[in-house]
Amino acid sequence: MTNPAIRGSRVGAGPTGERGQIAQAEKITYYFFCSNEHVMSPMFAATVAKEDIPEFLECTKCGLPAGQDKANLPAVSKNEPYKTHLAYVKERRSEEEAAQLLEEAIEAIHLRRARSAESNSN
Ligand SMILES: [Zn+2]
Repeated sequence: MTNPAIRGSRVGAGPTGERGQIAQAEKITYYFFCSNEHVMSPMFAATVAKEDIPEFLECTKCGLPAGQDKANLPAVSKNEPYKTHLAYVKERRSEEEAAQLLEEAIEAIHLRRARSAESNSN
């Protein structure tokens, strides 16, 4: 995931200022909160429209989604650890069940092959 804060901080930061000064593009700091109470404060150029500011950012400390509305954070329960899609899949289907399903599938293929072999020999 690209970080728009890094990309945005370079806007207008070139040495174009007069009297030896470096012109600074006006920047606005936005605060993003993750459910682990980390706070990020990326800056966006003032020219960036508010609707172009991402609704959620990935927390740089823990990887959880972080939102601007502290009272209405991205839905990740504090009691439940953040899980990957694979973790959810594994939870729904135990490895034993998966092995059994695979066996059944192989058996079904063998049966189908045996049947088609029979019909071919007729
Ligand atoms: Zn965090």
